[in-house]
Amino acid sequence: MFILRNAAQISQAVERAKQLHPHERMVEFGEYEVSGSKGNTYTVLCYRVGDEKIVDCNCPARVPCKHSAAALSLHIALAARQRGH
Ligand SMILES: [Zn+2]
Repeated sequence: MFILRNAAQISQAVERAKQLHPHERMVEFGEYEVSGSKGNTYTVLCYRVGDEKIVDCNCPARVPCKHSAAALSLHIALAARQRGH
């Protein structure tokens, strides 16, 4: 789990996700399933606590992982679409 502190961190994660090409799908808004390189699937939650944006992947990595980045890029795209309504 990590907390997004700034926009640069978000864009870094998104760029990383683009390079790695993981497969992500939405379960519901804020909950995503991302398949890893070994065919395993991880669940990533994107949510807010107060003013902090939390990204929580259930894989063993403790740093922003590619699953988090992939889910986050999808989440950002969906959030932008929702705001556009
Ligand atoms: Zn992960």
